[in-house]
Amino acid sequence: MWQVVGHEWAVELLERSLANGRTAHAYLLLGLPQIGKTTLALNFAQALNCLGEEKPCGQCRSCLKIAHGNHPDVRVIEAVNGTIKIDQMRAVQREVALSPHEGRWKVYIIRQMERATTEAANCLLKTLEEPPTQVILMLTAGEIDQLLPTIISRCQVLNLRPLPISLVREALEERWEIDPEQARLLARLSGGRLGWAVRASEEAAILQKRERCLNEMIELMGQGRVERLRYAQRLSRHPDSLREVLDLWLSWWRDLLLVKGGSSTEVTNVDREATLRSQAQSYSLTQVRDFVKALRAAVWQLDHNANTRLALEVLMLSLPAPST
Ligand SMILES: [Zn+2]
Repeated sequence: MWQVVGHEWAVELLERSLANGRTAHAYLLLGLPQIGKTTLALNFAQALNCLGEEKPCGQCRSCLKIAHGNHPDVRVIEAVNGTIKIDQMRAVQREVALSPHEGRWKVYIIRQMERATTEAANCLLKTLEEPPTQVILMLTAGEIDQLLPTIISRCQVLNLRPLPISLVREALEERWEIDPEQARLLARLSGGRLGWAVRASEEAAILQKRERCLNEMIELMGQGRVERLRYAQRLSRHPDSLREVLDLWLSWWRDLLLVKGGSSTEVTNVDREATLRSQAQSYSLTQVRDFVKALRAAVWQLDHNANTRLALEVLMLSLPAPST
């Protein structure tokens, strides 16, 4: 049985290719972080090498080895200190030339391909251009425009979408046995990324950080220029968590837009609904809308290498103060 939750069309496509003996030499799995790309790739590796009846059975020697990360023919390659280097791709190039140790297929899962250096990507391209038999490459990446077109054209592309929130909630309750209230919150916050929700259920620090970050934003709404500029400066010193903070802000202001507009759609920040309702009274619809726009613009600028501190300063100064 496939362990993947959701993404049925992708599972069906892979199953069909396996049944017809028409697997591609390389697949490219696209989608947001923690959406299930690596889980799907590992499950496919299991299906390819399964010794049981219904592939992947999850029980046989091969399936178990892959699940435990010690199958000699299934390798997961990822960035070291932020980048995938040429040496890693050269090792792949050497290894693919050898026949499998014990499985039928050698599977190389290369995670976050967008982190490969140009040299590393070009090295992998050589392997993709002359695909060895009994080898399948599974690349994962966030967005297609982050990769070389020559790499994309040699892969079958599977674009994974976020799961329905209800499906994440159900999986959290049934498979991970998380209590319903917590499952509801995690499912909403996950935006359909089950991997994120599972991790947040295991690491308390993730929700604590969200809590702290939301409180800081709410406090900042009532503060003046000096505090706002100080906050922008502080934030700009942590480029790694910047996107996460802005996404959180965006979720909050989108929620405000929903509440303001009287929409019946459930908000994302379900545990803070009372605060959202009271804030909705303090802002006009135009103010909320304008700030959502400002947030989107800031995210765009930061994605396009704008001056971080400047972009954040402009954003913090445009954060509207509550009217009451
Ligand atoms: Zn099996």
